[in-house]
Amino acid sequence: AQLDTLDIIVLAVILITTTAYFTKGKVWGVTKDPYASSFANANGGAKPGKTRNIVEKMEESGKNCVIFYGSQTGTAEDYASRLAKEGKSRFGLETMVADLEEYDYDNLDSFPEDKVAMFVLATYGEGEPTDNAVDFYEFITAEEPSFSNSNEPLLGNLTYVAFGLGNNTYEHYNSMVRNVDKALEKFGAHRVGEAGEGDDGAGTMEEDFLAWKDPMWAALAEKMNLEEREAVYEPIFSIVERDNLTKDSPEVYLGEPNKMHLEGTTKGPFNAHNPYIAPISESRELFNVKDRNCLHLEVDISGSNMSYQTGDHLAIWPTNPGQEVDEMLNILDLKDKQDTVISVKALEPTAKVPFPAPTTYDAIIRYHLEICAPVSRQFLGTLAAFAPDESIKAEMVKLGSDKDYFHDKISKNHYNISRTLSVVSNGQKWTNIPFSAFIEGLTKLQPRYYSISSSSMVQPKKISVTAVVENQLIPGRSDAFKGVATNYLFALKQKQNGEPNPEAFGLTYELMGPRNKYDGIHVPVHVRHSNFKLPSDPTKPIILVGPGTGVAPMRGFVQERANQAASGETVGKTILFFGCRKRAEDFLYESEWEEYKKVLGDKFELVTAFSRQGAKKVYVQHRLKERAKEINELLQQKAYIYVCGDAANMAREVNTVLGQIIAEQRGVSESKGEEIVKNMRAANQYQEDVW
Ligand code: FAD
Repeated sequence: AQLDTLDIIVLAVILITTTAYFTKGKVWGVTKDPYASSFANANGGAKPGKTRNIVEKMEESGKNCVIFYGSQTGTAEDYASRLAKEGKSRFGLETMVADLEEYDYDNLDSFPEDKVAMFVLATYGEGEPTDNAVDFYEFITAEEPSFSNSNEPLLGNLTYVAFGLGNNTYEHYNSMVRNVDKALEKFGAHRVGEAGEGDDGAGTMEEDFLAWKDPMWAALAEKMNLEEREAVYEPIFSIVERDNLTKDSPEVYLGEPNKMHLEGTTKGPFNAHNPYIAPISESRELFNVKDRNCLHLEVDISGSNMSYQTGDHLAIWPTNPGQEVDEMLNILDLKDKQDTVISVKALEPTAKVPFPAPTTYDAIIRYHLEICAPVSRQFLGTLAAFAPDESIKAEMVKLGSDKDYFHDKISKNHYNISRTLSVVSNGQKWTNIPFSAFIEGLTKLQPRYYSISSSSMVQPKKISVTAVVENQLIPGRSDAFKGVATNYLFALKQKQNGEPNPEAFGLTYELMGPRNKYDGIHVPVHVRHSNFKLPSDPTKPIILVGPGTGVAPMRGFVQERANQAASGETVGKTILFFGCRKRAEDFLYESEWEEYKKVLGDKFELVTAFSRQGAKKVYVQHRLKERAKEINELLQQKAYIYVCGDAANMAREVNTVLGQIIAEQRGVSESKGEEIVKNMRAANQYQEDVW
């Protein structure tokens, strides 16, 4: 497994703790800044001194509650931290948060009876575990996990709590938490409270979490004899201003993700902890309409040792827009201290600082925190204590405790944290909030994934993506809501093409990056491998369903097949269903398809569906239905079918329509049709890349 920069912080902290433990604390205080040095080998290597034994770790650090997380986009990790904080402040539990990837599980059978383990588990894609939970999932769901003891029941001592993060628009809704819960119960572990399920598909994740946790705490308090006390905020991180350093001091991180980036010694492997600062070789607009934008962007990876395969995802590391950074600094009255250098240290050994330090307020806000994301209602409750006056405090308490009121005032308007604070205080500055609260309460800025729209066979060193720019009008709000990453890319595209307004819709981004390291047109990226893959046999027919930006990986597939055909290989029938609003506005890659057709001849067919052209709305699933006979025949010839794009509506409907087509064409019941579709999925004959 790759080493995470954060692993290294924890590692360094653990190492120091362990050293301190064995030397009875003698070396405390003489250690130099653990963060500065720990980021030194952020790129793999051994984890010296790091225990993977959770029981030992808890014993050593005096903990009685561990919150494990399986997280892909940071939300599960964020919820885990929140549970840890709440457990400590309300119930006096000694809590720690643990990345599932960092521990072994074979000794869960010796987990002490008087302690509790919590599992906060996101389900990713097609019912899969998140990257950091793969090993745990395989271990715990095995027929006979190899626990170190073999007393029956194996997990009779384990008390646990479980919450899952899922999306009901996917077939395997919350399957991670469901399956892990089942497995833990099977081995005799005792769950406290319900196994909670949050639903991103219904947009109720945060509320589901809040509704689940209170009864869970009540049940846990009873089980463990915990006494509730008035929650008092205690910061997890200490922030110390470093008067001897300025933003120009070479050891100060101004947004560089790790020490190699700081020192200019960046090398691969490039991954979720170590991006490659890739030159953008091409960027252009794909739509022909004024108020909507879709970008075709190519990054050049020839200067790296990176590779990709057709169908993989490119992760783009965004930075926050300047206006939002300024608003945040402004409402916290930190504008004058924007470039003040600070050290950030965890006040307890199991906490992680989510970025390298010493750094500046500006860098943290610009490069490391999701300051534009939806606000957590619980977080507003926490911040109430630091309100500038009593009436603002009362309003914050109300927002924190009244779900409908919160929705009406905040969520509905898509306000982010700084806007919320500003609206609630009517512009009065919030000078009392410990900065630690933001590091704890906001998710760390996440890379965004994009389905790669090029073929690695055709252009192995140039990766293209196709991204629609998020720019939504929100009723009742005067300015448009703008997505972070896509507007950053839009600004890069404007800069690259020397366009008159080199700012995306008036947003300013620090396009040059920390210390001008992204000079020219660069963007930090890494590749995430996916299972969305063409059949290895190019003669197999394929059916591609990719409306809107869902066409991205399909372009890669067709490009690849055209290349195979051009070099004399026989390729199977390739039929692409594409849909958009209007031919003249948002028909992606219209002229390219004609070029591919020239090479592929009757092996390639493009079927279009326009939803806002003519009286009737036509979608790809309607077109599939019209071609029922042919689709069924192709499937009987073992065609592979691929669906990419909107998970909530399109992918679901395509799934249903396919079941109907099969039922109708083969003269079987609808439920049999559905079952056949299910089996196709299980056999990888039906693949989805949806979001
Ligand atoms: P963000 O700032 O992340 O906002 C995204 C959404 O979050 C908003 O539209 C809004 O609904 C919500 N939101 C954010 N902030 C708030 C707030 N304060 N209040 C309320 N709601 C808020 N996209 C493509 O265009 N092309 C692709 O090929 C593609 N492939 C993908 C593949 C995968 C595997 C995945 C997971 C996603 C893919 N996406 C793709 C989506 C892409 O990753 C991004 O989610 C998308 O581009 C938006 O990113 P953003 O940073 O611009 O928007």
